[in-house]
Amino acid sequence: MPLLPHDEGALTSLRVPTVDDPLRVLVSGCLMGWPVTTDGTDAGLGGSLHAITSMPNVKTIGFCPEDIGMGTPRTMPDIHGGDGYDVLSGNARVLDEHGVDHTEAIVHGARAMAEYAVSNRVELAILTDMSASCGSQVVSDGCRLIENRRYRRGVGVATALLLDAGIPVLSARDYRSLYSIMRRLNPELPVREDLRDHHQTQWFVEYFGDT
Ligand code: SF4
Repeated sequence: MPLLPHDEGALTSLRVPTVDDPLRVLVSGCLMGWPVTTDGTDAGLGGSLHAITSMPNVKTIGFCPEDIGMGTPRTMPDIHGGDGYDVLSGNARVLDEHGVDHTEAIVHGARAMAEYAVSNRVELAILTDMSASCGSQVVSDGCRLIENRRYRRGVGVATALLLDAGIPVLSARDYRSLYSIMRRLNPELPVREDLRDHHQTQWFVEYFGDT
């Protein structure tokens, strides 16, 4: 099972695409600038992947699993008792800030995203981390709308299904891996040694310990 950015092999085995046959990249709808977050905005995320999505040998395919599953605007879904894999195995649930159970809707949206990705022959996904659906390195450990929000290493429900389908997933915060892919797409880009993936940031290491 490929698990970027911890799986260097999955990264280096990505096809080197052409303008005529671009790399097919699934992107979280909010990162596309779509107004699909819980409050009906893009939460300021639109355009944050412009450097890679504007490359001529990249084709972006947007999707928001929670918009499909719960609609927009919506209450805030977060995983209680595990990560996306635990939700799919029935060992964790997705509740909103009122304690209402949205597990079924979130799984429905996640399955729709994975099916859409497979039908579009997606080769890589770049998703918004910490989401109950799109998280790839971190998810909230319970409701995020509390004074001292807690976090858990793990993936969201949609990410789990994408990985199960053999699609590598990156967080939009995995700057090192994203730039590495950009250099494969355009070898003329300069080397950058200063970039870090989400799991290599000071916050991540201080919160979870060394990876
Ligand atoms: S479910 Fe994913 S695409 Fe939709 S708003 Fe949340 S992070 Fe963005």
